[in-house]
Amino acid sequence: MSRTAKALATIEADLRIPFPHTDAPLACRTNPDWFAHEHGQNSKDDLARIERAKTACSGCPIAAGCLK
Ligand code: SF4
Repeated sequence: MSRTAKALATIEADLRIPFPHTDAPLACRTNPDWFAHEHGQNSKDDLARIERAKTACSGCPIAAGCLK
């Protein structure tokens, strides 16, 4: 993987923006494997896993804060 491609594959959280607190169970914590995606993974199972993650995020109570 080239240096540029590797840099694009990793996005670090901005530590100046705290992660919002919630007592609700978060899919990204209860099912972290849904959110672990490597570039080039596009099998039927990979795409189904990504869709589960997208669906979980769309219903997440702290999505707006998370996206910051
Ligand atoms: S929106 Fe953020 S906090 Fe919510 S499930 Fe998705 S990754 Fe987790």
